[in-house]
Amino acid sequence: MSTAPGRLRIAIQKSGRLSERCLDLMREAGLRVVKGNNDLLYRVENYPIDILRVRDDDIPTFVADGVADLGIVGFNVLEEDPVAHAKGAKTVMPLGFGRCDLKIAAPETFVWSGAKSLEGLRIATTYPNVLKRYLQTNGVNAEIVEMRGAVEVAPRLKMAHAICDLVSTGATLEANGLKAFATVLNSEAMLIRSPKDLEPALQELAESVIARFKGVVASQGAKYVMMNAPKAALDAITAILPGAGAPTVTPLAGRDDAVAVHAVCQESVFWETLEKLKAAGASAILVLPIEKMM
Ligand code: ATP
Ligand code: ZN
Repeated sequence: MSTAPGRLRIAIQKSGRLSERCLDLMREAGLRVVKGNNDLLYRVENYPIDILRVRDDDIPTFVADGVADLGIVGFNVLEEDPVAHAKGAKTVMPLGFGRCDLKIAAPETFVWSGAKSLEGLRIATTYPNVLKRYLQTNGVNAEIVEMRGAVEVAPRLKMAHAICDLVSTGATLEANGLKAFATVLNSEAMLIRSPKDLEPALQELAESVIARFKGVVASQGAKYVMMNAPKAALDAITAILPGAGAPTVTPLAGRDDAVAVHAVCQESVFWETLEKLKAAGASAILVLPIEKMM
């Protein structure tokens, strides 16, 4: 795979559950992604950045080897890849999408009393390395049956007693008469970067892309909250605001007893929160979305 020199390379999943969300993230970060000459490569037209579109399983190795400078991949894939682990693809941050869990599941009638219940059994999975570590941590001896996919049919085919597979809604498990008994790993999409050094100009570009991604992730779910409040209730009101730092407090014209309070709330602001604020004495409460944050 060859890309133009002097361009930053970001590897993302070509087609799958993470692809669209990765492209959304780029757009929200102000990168104008356009199709390139071939399917493998998209280009960013307003910055010297190439987007490598590959199988998600290849992303950790590409990033570890410096074929790509940055990459976006599920934490589950990263944890499973021993080569990338050894070469040190570095985790930058979780991106807040692609959430799923790697779980131990078995037929509904299975009697579960902790990981020890797996002793001596056969467990089918596409994540043998992560499963092996889980079994070791729990001091369990079990046989790992490595599969390429369709793990959920293994118990019915008597290939395995249990499975270790990704679950997001649980619908696939249910459709196959299986029940989840334990969580092996919580996963979401991660931004990773290469341990290889970049030329200074690209290094700077990489830092700026990372800072923008951080801003996009931080502004998701964050709200700007404004209200009027009695001075006496300021402490109580600050304590109610979810995930806010020190609020901005400004005087209100012609009022000695009340102030305006503005705060950025990092967590969701629910109706219950507004009701509590009101009960504490706040009035004229406004909750606004935040588009960008840095
Ligand atoms: P590829 O062709 O790139 O190898 P894939 O079939 O391995 O694709 P997808 O099924 O598209 O991968 O899933 C990509 C990632 O999405 C997973 O590795 C995981 O991090 C995340 N994900 C989120 N929810 C789920 C889910 N319910 N099942 C599987 N993966 C999920
Ligand atoms: Zn894959």
